Amino acid sequence: MILPILTYPNKVLREPTEPVVFPLSKEIKKLTKDMIETVRKADGIGLAAPQVGKSVKLIIVNLEKNGVPLVALYNPKILSKGFKKVDIEEGCLSLPGIFGMVRRPKKVTIQAQNSEGEVIKFTDEGWVSRVVQHETDHTNGKLIIDLIKKYTQGEQIVKDWKKEKLL
Ligand SMILES: [Zn+2]
Repeated sequence: MILPILTYPNKVLREPTEPVVFPLSKEIKKLTKDMIETVRKADGIGLAAPQVGKSVKLIIVNLEKNGVPLVALYNPKILSKGFKKVDIEEGCLSLPGIFGMVRRPKKVTIQAQNSEGEVIKFTDEGWVSRVVQHETDHTNGKLIIDLIKKYTQGEQIVKDWKKEKLL
């Protein structure tokens, strides 16, 4: 089932999230399946549960177009960050029309659980690193509008939110 993607300033995007418990409940299994369908349909490279209104620590990384198999990560955490930072233009399915340069560590070590509850740990310095950092931020109520220093599109929308105290 394709789920509606919430857009800012929907409050759920700022709410804290609950850890996922194992074995996975029927609800979480269904949510995972639906989020996978939704991210593919939206042609997004990632999706976090708060974006579909669920305050749980679940993210989907959809880099199939880069040759990386689609993956659902439960309870993702950034364990360590490399020293080197890079500026890359980012957008967000919850912030349509807004793009800007976001500075993040290039290399990160990520810990998460797979659908069996097994703890997995990996290091990446490419697109997976970027997408996991962006989506893990969502599970902490953090959005790219908190990080963008230089907008490439949609700056006026953000200025208006600031004026209306929505940011
Ligand atoms: Zn996003």
